[in-house]
Formats: sequence, C-alpha cells, structure tokens
Amino acid sequence: MKSFEKPIQVTKAFLPPMEEYVECMTQIWESSWLTNQGPIHEQLRSRLKQYLKVPNITLFVNGHMALDVALKGLQLKGEIITTPFTFASTTHAITMNGLTPVFCDINEYDYTIDVDKIEALITDKTSAILPVHVYGNPCNVERLQEIATKHNLTLIYDAAHVFGVEYNGKPVCNYGDISMFSFHATKVFNTIEGGALVYKDSGLERTFDLYKNFGITGPETVEAIGVNAKMNEFSAAMGICNLKYVDMEIEKRRKLVNIYRQCLKNISGIKYLEDKPGVKHNYAYIPVLFDPHEFGLNRDEVCEKLKQYNVFTRKYFYPLVTEFECYKNNYNPSDTPVAEYVSHNVLTLPIYGSLSEDEVICICDIVKTLRK
Ligand SMILES: *Cc1c(COP(=O)(O)O)cnc(C)c1O
Repeated sequence: MKSFEKPIQVTKAFLPPMEEYVECMTQIWESSWLTNQGPIHEQLRSRLKQYLKVPNITLFVNGHMALDVALKGLQLKGEIITTPFTFASTTHAITMNGLTPVFCDINEYDYTIDVDKIEALITDKTSAILPVHVYGNPCNVERLQEIATKHNLTLIYDAAHVFGVEYNGKPVCNYGDISMFSFHATKVFNTIEGGALVYKDSGLERTFDLYKNFGITGPETVEAIGVNAKMNEFSAAMGICNLKYVDMEIEKRRKLVNIYRQCLKNISGIKYLEDKPGVKHNYAYIPVLFDPHEFGLNRDEVCEKLKQYNVFTRKYFYPLVTEFECYKNNYNPSDTPVAEYVSHNVLTLPIYGSLSEDEVICICDIVKTLRK
C-alpha cells in the first residue's frame, strides 16, 4: 500500500470563493462598523433564522460562550444531567457557572445520552438536562422532552454538531428549550469562530443580548454580570458567504460517507453508524469503532499506523470528560461504561467536502491492509 503524498487531515475548513468574501468585506470598509450588532451580523441572523426555521436566534463569538450565556441567562442552580461523551466545552460551561454536572451514560446505538438512565439521576437539586447531539446524531428528542416536562426541567441541547440536520422534516434545533450551535472553523458550517443560541421563548432575547455584552443596558446602566461574547462583522461576513454553500457541502459529504460505508462493510472488527430513519443527516463526522479482538489492532495502534500512511484521524472524544485531569478526582469513568468503551475504541476518519472519492477508497484500502 502506498502512502499519501500530502497529509490527509481529519477535516478541512470550508472556505467560500475569496472574491465573494472580499465583496462582503467592502461593506465593512464603507461603514467602519466592525462589531456590536452590525448590519452584516443582522443579515446573517435573519438568514440563519430562515435556514434553521427557528423563532429566535442570538449570535455569539463562539459556541462555548453561547452555552455559557444560556446557563447564566437562565440563572440555573444545582445539578445538570449531561453526558461525559462530549467536547470539554459542554462540561466546562456547566462547572464554570457554579453548577454540578451529573453524568449519564450514552447508548450504544448512536452514542447520544441514554434516555433510560436519566430518571434515576434526577434529584431535588436537578434543574436541567444538557444532552449532546453527538456526531450530528439527534438525541431521542421526544423521550427527552417527556422527561423534562414530567420533572419540570429545562432542556438545553449542545447542538454544535447538528447544523443542517433535520428530524421529522424540521431542523433538530427546534426541539427542547434552547439549542447551542458552534460555527467553529472545523464545523460543517463556519463563521471562522462563532456560535448561536436558538430558543422557543422570545422573552429570552433581551436576556441573552444583555449577558453577551457585559450586562450593559444603557450608557450609564449595567444590570447584570455579563461577559463579552459578541459576533463581529468579519465572522458574520464569512457566515453569509458560507451559508450559500452549506447544502452543497453536506451533499458532497453524504456521497463520501456512503463510499466509506461501502468499502468498510464486511471488514470484521469495524463498526460504523448507518443513517437513522426520519433523519436528514449532515455527515459532520465519520466515527468508526475498532474491536481490538476482532480487528487484531486496537484503536491507538490503528491511529498510529494510519499516520505512517499520511492519514490523520482523531480520537474524538478521548479522553472521556470524567478522565480529564481537572475532573478525574470527582468522577469514575466506569460509572458510564458505554461512554468509556466508545471513547477508548472510536476513531473519526477524514471527512470534508473537498476530499475525493478516490482518496476515501484509498483510506479504506489502507485500513483493510492493517487488519490482522
Ligand atoms: C465545537 C464544540 C463546542 C464548542 O464550540 P466552540 O465554537 O469551539 O466554542 C461545544 N460542544 C461540542 C460538542 C463541540 O463539538
């Protein structure tokens, strides 16, 4: 097997044609309005509202600060039930707001929160559930809403992975009270850095605008202890340009993921996920589980070997949040055994729209030759 001449990274940020971005930037030079709810920001806001079919949306400097402001704005207290199989951001946002994360295991079918294990974790201190639509797979949104309603809990989704994902014909961010998006460079839709909250209760708009701008309400009034989490005009301009191409990008990814599935099927020791019924996926990631006994190599060995062929994968999410230096003294990873297993055996393979079909076939051929 030959290795790739140039490294294949796990992802590649989407960029629009440069002329289009330059054209959008000329508006910034004409207005000298660089940030603080500028005209391009407002334009992006209304386009995203249409694209996501949501009643309310607030834009942020990044996804993490959006989540932070959601928790601050709602003034939640006590415990939040969440998943340890996520990016550091989800848990950090909870703990930095003085809340206690309570970790629920994930299910083995799509790696989202296991809805059958949530109720046992609810106490009189629980104030919210914060699940993650991992890899773009929607959580069991109906069951989660039932649990939240029954116990009077706020339901906030980390929707960083689900831009463009629909469930039962509508964008999945329409479920729950609030959904947080990340528009980071590595996500399916990017604004370089950026994020958003979408939400049902239009009364929250003022609260979020307040908290994302230092709690300032007027030239001489500061009402709340807020942060600086505003999206600037350059990021918004990138968003305007990229939004035109996002459906095309998702379609390219769909084709590539189907080639991956075709090539990887029948290799024993490899497990990948299929599309879920009723879901329009965005193919943000291609997670593959390697069973060390069946495949002959463990995940870490596969990752290392692939590097020798110039293929760079990612152990995403590894380590598990409960294994982080900053959390491990308070938690036991084996309390969430499915999350522990997946975290220790998963590898996400390269996926981005400009990856070629031949490159995907070649990556799969390399994986096949590794099997012992
Ligand atoms: C990317 C990501 C975030 C954080 O988003 P930023 O825009 O990088 O702050 C949060 N949660 C998950 C699951 C993510 O993948």
